[in-house]
Amino acid sequence: MATTTTTSTIMTINESKLTPSTLCVACQSIFQPDTVRSDVGETAHHGLEALAARASKCHLCLTVFMSIDPESYRIFRRDSSVESIGFAWISPIARDQARLKFRYVKMAADRATPTSTSNSSKTSLAGAVDSENVLMVELILMNPKYAVEPGVRTIDPASVSTGSVESFELAKQWIEECTFNHMKCTVSESNATWKPTHLLDVSVRGPKGAPGVKLVDGMFIDPLSEYVTLSHCWGKSKPIRLHKGTLAALRQGVSTSSLPKTFAEAALVVERLGYRYLWIDALCIMHDNEQAVLKEISQMHRVYSEATLNIAATSSRDDASGLIYSRNVSAMHPCIVDVRGMGIDDGMYKILRSTLWHDLVDSSPLSKRAWAFQERCLAKRTLHFTRNELLWECQQMCCSEVFPKGLPATIGPPSSQESVEFFSKRTHHQRHGNWHQIVKMYSPKRLTYSSDKLLAVGGLARQYMARNRLREDEYLAGLWKPYLPHALLWRVEQGRRPPKYRAPTWTWASIDGEVKYPEPAQSTRETCVEVLNLDMQYKSDVFGIVEAGKMKVRGFMARGLLKRTHDYWGRTPCVIQCTKAQVELESASFDDRLAKLSGDGMLTEMLEVYMLPVIDVIDRVEGLLLCATMKRGEFRRIGAFDVSRYDQINWDRFRSVMKGEADMLNYEDRLDHTNGYWFASDYTYTINIV
Ligand SMILES: [Zn+2]
Ligand SMILES: [Zn+2]
Repeated sequence: MATTTTTSTIMTINESKLTPSTLCVACQSIFQPDTVRSDVGETAHHGLEALAARASKCHLCLTVFMSIDPESYRIFRRDSSVESIGFAWISPIARDQARLKFRYVKMAADRATPTSTSNSSKTSLAGAVDSENVLMVELILMNPKYAVEPGVRTIDPASVSTGSVESFELAKQWIEECTFNHMKCTVSESNATWKPTHLLDVSVRGPKGAPGVKLVDGMFIDPLSEYVTLSHCWGKSKPIRLHKGTLAALRQGVSTSSLPKTFAEAALVVERLGYRYLWIDALCIMHDNEQAVLKEISQMHRVYSEATLNIAATSSRDDASGLIYSRNVSAMHPCIVDVRGMGIDDGMYKILRSTLWHDLVDSSPLSKRAWAFQERCLAKRTLHFTRNELLWECQQMCCSEVFPKGLPATIGPPSSQESVEFFSKRTHHQRHGNWHQIVKMYSPKRLTYSSDKLLAVGGLARQYMARNRLREDEYLAGLWKPYLPHALLWRVEQGRRPPKYRAPTWTWASIDGEVKYPEPAQSTRETCVEVLNLDMQYKSDVFGIVEAGKMKVRGFMARGLLKRTHDYWGRTPCVIQCTKAQVELESASFDDRLAKLSGDGMLTEMLEVYMLPVIDVIDRVEGLLLCATMKRGEFRRIGAFDVSRYDQINWDRFRSVMKGEADMLNYEDRLDHTNGYWFASDYTYTINIV
């Protein structure tokens, strides 16, 4: 393969002051109209291995390489005996903007064909698809002549780490801008004099001026002083914690060199930004006293929302990784190319990383943690310490060091914008949508202790309650009473219910994994189930651990055998064989792992299920799939379903089984003795769901 390095093609003199970056031959050919392309417009590019080797010589190869998440790269390169091949293509967005995509596919070891034949462009995020065999990188071509110049800043070559003076000056500017000029970020229900129980004073100095921290009581410090919180991944190591054994030493003051790297650097950052107090969960909560821990957790929403700033160790997997990273400054400068005859206006283009926010924030190690999600949502403003640069997030702006005045719309992905917009004044009033959005985003996040599922979202629930004028007794282990019964219709996207009890089966909090709510119906919603009573038992308070929860409902029910499902999770049609008729479900999702399927899609064991319709909208009925427990009249949720009205024959069958004609009556004797139910004259049943 040619290794010649030359500059890109000729530019006209008055085109602008932009000088094309140095590119390798393969990268140059992407922008040349006479290059041979496949029928989907792809140009051959280096494999990932060659790309890494070229990164020091070609600006575009470097940009692509730096856009790849180290973890995705590691997974992709796991089997290093297999070489990959690369493809590049340009797809115009507007006359002066285009996407520049790269796709890397592993070659099968024994034959010269890619292991994946997929050439689709369905993903737009780096490393997002099938990270085992395909890796995608997406960049954006922006013509500075036509596009509103997105305020790209040139990073000082001396700024070789995120701890540089330049980076910190920028961080201070963001803090100032947000504190003095942002309406949304300053108008809040906060009480500036409130302080957490304990804080760390970072102004302490040991012998020879060595930096240290000292534990102080929040109530004794100047009420007007500000404090900063830290968001971090604990990791597997057991770092120093506050407990009876360390209390005296921490009160006395300890050197930062005795702390895990992330804590030590957090203390340094806080001081450099001009603050004195820092809150770190590990060092500010007494960990050997369960009551104290639960009390502090119940204050968590205040700890993060009253803080002046939250600093996030976004790229760090554990507390030994620290906040500050060294970096390759030239990779941060936009690569410049001359583009001719590619379906967009000819001219000089800047190549920007369109998935920057996604790569550095949304898919970071920290963003996968459940507690950190709550911390990020609660904080007024977060300064993200990532592996490449500092990023800013507050209710009004997201910025990076390259885009200090705000990320262009094409770069900030929707998910980050949603999380920023979550608690804005504008969206508070959309009472239904928001909580369900929070549930969707929170549910896949990881927890070290699975029992923390409700605790780690308790702070957000308290804030949501205050902002929507809900009452404490309206919170039901992750659901809100006013949103019942629709709130029962969550579906498991990916995950299952763990064997150990954590919450009643009717709440998503009983599931490990991603849960989502169906799109709210556009038409008038009619509920066909009535929630009669709730009997809840909590360990400490309603936002904490649930010990038991029984929901008494009255509704229509039909019993049948779950007969057939076509894939593991049962997302494709399932059939419920009732005595008189067979009902096909338009879709169904299951909370628990079902018995293994045989080749033809039949369940090896027939499962006895009950259908409980919950809402009845114009085109469908949505409801719960239940299983009887051993107790009379008591059921557990095992999934959710919907039946479409468009298939008239199936719809008629569904209605007939719901009318209690033969089905339930035939099983009455059996049910009365084992599971039992109450039969009312109007075909409804009153049952408990636990
Ligand atoms: Zn190159
Ligand atoms: Zn702000």
